[in-house]
Amino acid sequence: MEYVKLNNGIEMPILGYGVYQVSPEECERCVLDAISVGYRSIDTAQAYYNEEGVGNAIVKCGVPRNKLFITTKVWISNAGYEKASASIDESLRKLKTDYIDLLLIHQPFGDYYGTYRAMIDAEKAGKVRAIGISNFYPDRYKDLVEFGPMIPAVNQVETHVFNQQVEAQKIMKQYGTQIMSWGPFAEGRNDFFTNEVLKSIGARHGKSVAQTALRFLIQRGVVVIPKSTHIERMRENFDVFDFNLSEEEMAQIATLDTGKSLFFSHYDPSMIDFLAKYSKGENK
Ligand code: NAP
Repeated sequence: MEYVKLNNGIEMPILGYGVYQVSPEECERCVLDAISVGYRSIDTAQAYYNEEGVGNAIVKCGVPRNKLFITTKVWISNAGYEKASASIDESLRKLKTDYIDLLLIHQPFGDYYGTYRAMIDAEKAGKVRAIGISNFYPDRYKDLVEFGPMIPAVNQVETHVFNQQVEAQKIMKQYGTQIMSWGPFAEGRNDFFTNEVLKSIGARHGKSVAQTALRFLIQRGVVVIPKSTHIERMRENFDVFDFNLSEEEMAQIATLDTGKSLFFSHYDPSMIDFLAKYSKGENK
């Protein structure tokens, strides 16, 4: 495993396992499988409704807690100092742990300054080891780092070969924030797993499209957390440290970038309507 060093000196595995859209029923089994494959970093969120499954796996896996790296995220409905503070305690209870390795503000909406202050106090109290954000596009990111209470250790944003976040990564680097990818396979959109460029480059190394795509991000210094409910795919996605893409191959993959989201834009007002309704439980 390779690690990145966060801005407070803490080391984080560059490859982890994400559990978005893993059902609460399946989550414990999936995380136990992932840990048995070798993953030590697990990414969940209050909004995934599966923190308890992650917690059960933490307790049952047999790997000491200090060898695991657990990330969760405060959801918009818990924004603001008081609610966020209570939600952090609730996440700790569900995760069956005394501390969260990395705690993120899930979305840049609502009273996220209040959330941030709650997270800083949680860090001081030893409940959190590192604090970060998610889905902060360059404008909101700049606003937060220039006017906010501290520089986030991590910003988790949609990052894959079709939306490479090259500019965003440059800006984060200036301030010492680690970029972390969500959706490293774009959840399969845009015929991801049959992409000809990734296929032909991967074939040269005896690697799959998924492995080639992850390797590309890892070589750019991007933390990745691919999700799969299948143990054989978890193994495949973990097996990305025994080959190197050449400069020419990296440049070829760089041409796949469209500079646009394959999901939704956080600049789109209807997206904010959706999140507002979701947070009120209206379209869960
Ligand atoms: P993803 O990892 O890009 O793609 C997951 C999809 O790819 C699933 O359909 C999975 O199917 C399939 N897959 C996985 N490995 C494969 C392989 N080797 N070959 C073929 N298909 C494969 O999508 P994601 O889950 O959205 O993103 C990863 C993690 O990022 C999430 O789990 C979550 O932790 C985080 N995330 C965060 C945010 C945020 O707002 N911060 C948003 C989205 C995601 P099977 O499961 O059936 O194998």
